[in-house]
Formats: sequence, structure tokens, C-alpha cells
Amino acid sequence: MTTDTAPAKRPIDKKALLAKYIAERDKRLRDDGNDQYLEIKGRLAHYLDDPYTARVEREPKTDHVTFMFIGGGFAGLVTGARLAEAGIKDVRIVEKGGDFGGTWYWNRYPGAQCDTASMIYMPLLEETGHMPTEKYAHAPEILEQCQRIGRQYGLYDNALFHTEIKSLTWDEATHRWIVETDRGDRFTATYIGVGTGPLHVPKLPGIPGIESFKGHSFHTSRWDYDYTGGDPKGGLMEKLADKRVAIIGTGATSVQAVPHLAKACGKLYVVQRTPSSVDVRANAPIDPDWFKQIATPGWQQRWLENFTENQAGGGAEEDLVQDGWTDLSRRIRARIMTLPPDQRTPMNMLAAYEDSDFEKMEEIRARAESIVSDKDTAEKLKAWYRQLCKRPCFHDAYLQAFNNPSTTLIDTDGKGVERITETGLVVGGVEYEVDCIIYASGFEVGTEFTRRAGFDLTGVDGLKLSEAWAEGMRSKHGLHVHGFPNAFFVQPTQGANLISNVPHNLTDSGRTIATIVKHAQDKGFDRIEVTKEAQDAWVALLLTGMGRMIGAPDCTPGYYNNEGKDPGPAAKYAVGYPAGATAYFKYIDAWRKSGEFEGLAFS
Ligand code: NDP
Repeated sequence: MTTDTAPAKRPIDKKALLAKYIAERDKRLRDDGNDQYLEIKGRLAHYLDDPYTARVEREPKTDHVTFMFIGGGFAGLVTGARLAEAGIKDVRIVEKGGDFGGTWYWNRYPGAQCDTASMIYMPLLEETGHMPTEKYAHAPEILEQCQRIGRQYGLYDNALFHTEIKSLTWDEATHRWIVETDRGDRFTATYIGVGTGPLHVPKLPGIPGIESFKGHSFHTSRWDYDYTGGDPKGGLMEKLADKRVAIIGTGATSVQAVPHLAKACGKLYVVQRTPSSVDVRANAPIDPDWFKQIATPGWQQRWLENFTENQAGGGAEEDLVQDGWTDLSRRIRARIMTLPPDQRTPMNMLAAYEDSDFEKMEEIRARAESIVSDKDTAEKLKAWYRQLCKRPCFHDAYLQAFNNPSTTLIDTDGKGVERITETGLVVGGVEYEVDCIIYASGFEVGTEFTRRAGFDLTGVDGLKLSEAWAEGMRSKHGLHVHGFPNAFFVQPTQGANLISNVPHNLTDSGRTIATIVKHAQDKGFDRIEVTKEAQDAWVALLLTGMGRMIGAPDCTPGYYNNEGKDPGPAAKYAVGYPAGATAYFKYIDAWRKSGEFEGLAFS
């Protein structure tokens, strides 16, 4: 019998576990690191086609806007919204997709849903008056929220969809950016924002023979519902009933899609190189009566702050969100609190962290055992690494899917697919014939910023951003870069760096940008640049911190640790405020409110 209740605890042999972790990592280390993946271009370019929206022809733009933002995902939307609130409505969002949504525009695979609670993950809920329907909302609802923000703040009026930036050049004479796109646009903007997101360029595994496959194939971020049937709302993919389908990859995307595929496919092969850690999801509908009670003015900001405090260190008295992200932090804190105050040293805290991690991962492995009926399959689904070595996953139907007789796990024992043939794929010398291959192989992370973005910035005196950051990112607050006036980078690094709830970083940055631009306009300035001294001081402060918490070199390879390769000296700059995310948000709020904008030069 299989259950999803917590199994009895076994004693933890830390030494044996560590040895197992290292052995599993070593199996997966490879010389080619990021180069094992294929860049999608040339003959593979069709994998990037937009299956959701037809491209509309339009005249090139040659006008001027106050603010141009690259990316119509959360970053662009919240910045646009905050600017509109501040009275700056002349905002143009340039987006490569056919609508707003970013990640949620592209990722419409069945079962897609947020992994951080909707109440804090979905931006501007209070402003738009939207009540999430579930604790973890599904993708269509999140996409609708993006469109709602776009409509409410008038961001559709000036947006350019299916448009990619080609170049951005600062013109010192006019204090404007010259913007050029792949649609022939050449317009100017006083201010620009960059919010392209970390995971927007799909990649394919470099499996020999990948181009020879004669069946159907697609990447999860371009789901082909014409082929599969069904819809992003989870409608049964009835066209797969007589199909043999292989999904390659078992990361966060696959974990969400597999239960739907298992229900629909005549035969489903789940091809695994490294198992994900899959913890309890416990999704539930949100009760409108409860929501009415808690949604008093300022509620979302309170929830955001409470989650951040619980998840990233501080330890608020109550835990409003109560999920897998806050669970580990709660455990660590509880363990530390059992120590007498004089023994709460950094060494003991680290030990408490390690012990909680072992305990948590043992529970997650035991969960696989208790849910999956076939012992061998259950064993292969166990994740042998520390929780933050790879993206933690949460699901209540993924492991269960392997009890479906038409679903088979093909475990490659860390080696990956050997070969793709005209009719299927080969693992461990055995060929599996399939009609369709779905690549759940993720997105480019460790590649050059300019390759992923498709553009560089040319700032003061022709300085390129790629040159300025050649030896690592340099900024103040992650937002301002010396040499690139009137440009704002909306992303978490070198700011709060709150990875478990990225939208919190973005909404807060939107507020900062709107405050700064409004100040400049009110005072008659049109040029804003961080000084070199202020940037250097900020970077020096960042380097006094503990360094990166995720992706240690002893972890199983993946995008968190540059596929196990030395990420080089630049990686040490991919950090956040040393005192933690809560402290950062307090600091930046005071910085904004002071009206001094310390470190910025206005002219
Ligand atoms: P990932 O990069 O996490 O996963 C790619 C998968 O492909 C891995 O399992 C990888 O194995 C496997 N793979 C790569 N090459 C081969 C090969 N040659 N043979 C077999 N398998 C191979 O991509 P995802 O799209 O799953 O997720 C990317 C990120 O997107 C997540 O980490 C998360 O940040 C985000 N995401 C967030 C969601 C949410 O918040 N709800 C949902 C989905 C994604 P290996 O592990 O061995 O490298």
C-alpha cells in the first residue's frame, strides 16, 4: 500500500549520506558543463516559434517615450504600474512574446503553477483587487493577472509585442537612449528598464542524433496543444491517447507536467538524469470569506514581509504563508533555539542548518518510498543531495504518477540519454520507440548575458555593459550601473537577492524606480547616474557577506552551480545584501524615503 503520510524516522548516518551525495555528484560531473546544451538557432530555430499568438505586422516606431522597458513579464509590469501611479504614463514595454506575462506567457504546459504561494507570488493583488483562487495558482490565472495589470495601468497602449531589442545606445548630447529593434524601430527614451528575467531562453540537451528524430517534438515552454489536445487549464490531452511519448528532464517543469501526461498518454516514458526532490504541495482553494477578512489595507505588503522574514532569516512570530519554503527555515531556527545563547555561534548555526537539511531530505526520500509502489522505481526517484543544490519541487501527484501502469521511469543513472534515433531514444543500450519527444530541458543560465538578452548596452563614451561586467556584475542595489545613466536593471542580484519569491524584489524595485524618476522630473533633472564611489562602496559591502547560499561546488551539477564547473571569479558578485533580504527591504525603504538618493548624481 502507498501513502502520503510522514513515514517513521530512521536514524541519520551523516557520514554515509555525505559519501553517497559525493558519489552521485561525481557520476554526473562532465567536462563540457554548459556546453553540453544546444543553443536553439539555425536548423533548430523552429523550437522557438510562438505557438500562442500570431505575429501582427506594424509600422516601425520613430518617436520618443519617457520610459522604455525591456520585457513584459512581472518586472516590466510592476515597474510600469509604479510609474503610472507616480503619474509617469508614457511607458513603452518592448516584449518578445505576443502579450504580457513573460515566463507565464511562454510556460503554458499542462499543470504549470506557481511554487511560491499566490498571495505573495502574484504581483499587485491588492492594487488590482484580485483574490487568488488557490494557495498555488495555476498558470492561466497568473497570465490573466499579468494582463489585468497591463489593462489597469494602460500599459497595452504603447507596448510593442513580438519585438526584440537589437541595440541600446546612450546619447550624451540629448540625455536619451536610442533604441533599435528587430522590427525596424528606432526611437528614443529618456529612461530605460531591463527586466528580461533569468530563465527566458529555452535550451535543448546536446544528445547525439537529436536532429534525426522523425516524430514530433517540442520544448515545454512552447507547448503544442494542436498536437496533444487539451489546454493550459488542464483539459485532458485526448490526442495523446494512442501516442508513445517521452519527456526528457525531471526538473520543476517536468514535475508539474508529468501527472497530466500520465493521465493522457497511451505510453509515457519519463526520462531522468537526476531526480528532483519532491516535497508535499498541499494546494487548496482560497476561501473568499477568509480572504475578505484578511485583505485589509496593506495586506499584501504585510504578507510579503512576513514570508521574507520567515524564509530568509529573521523569524517573525507567526508564519502567514506556511509552506515548504518556510519549513526548512523554521526547523533551523527551532534547532538553534534549543542551544544555550552562548553556544549560538556561526559554527553551531551552520551545523544546525546541515542537520535540518539531512533530516528534511531524508523525509523527502522516504516520501518517494511511501508513495511509489514499485520499489525499484521509488529508489530511483530519491534525490541524493542537499535541498538547495537543485531547485526544490513540491507536488502531490508527481510521484503518484509512477503508479500508473502506462507510465515508466527511464532512469539514466546520471548519464543522460545516449542517443536519439529516427524513431526514438536510446538509454543504456536499449531503444525506446516513441511518437513524440517533449524536451523539459530547461533554460540557459550560465551563458553570456548578451547572448541570452540578444543585445548589449552602449553607455557613456561607448562603454559596453558586457565590458563593464566582464569580471563580474557591478552595481548599486542591483539597479544602477555606473556608466549607464538613466538605465535601471530590475532583478534580485546585488539587492535583496530573495530567490524564493522573486516578485517581492521586482515590485520593490518598481517602487524605487518610480520614486527616483518622479524626483528627477519634479526637480527638472533628466540625467541620473550612480557615482563610481557609491557603486564601489556597495560592491565592497556585498563582498563582506557569507557568499552564495545555493549551488555549492560539492552539489550535484545543475544550473545552480554552473553545471559543476568553476564559475570563475565573477560568481562571487552574484550575491545580495549581507544582512539579508528583510534588512535590505528596510534599508531601501529608508533610502527612498530620505529623498537624498545617496549615491546617485542628478543633473
Ligand atoms: P531544469 O533545468 O530544472 O531541468 C532540466 C532537466 O533536463 C533536468 O532534469 C536535467 O537533468 C535534464 N536533462 C538535461 N540534459 C539531459 C540529457 N542529456 N538527458 C536527460 N536529461 C537531461 O528545467 P525546468 O524547465 O524544469 O526548470 C527550470 C527552472 O524554471 C526551475 O528550476 C525553476 O526555477 C523554474 N520553474 C519554476 C516553476 C514554478 O515556480 N512553478 C515551475 C517550473 C520551472 P539534470 O538535473 O541531471 O541536469
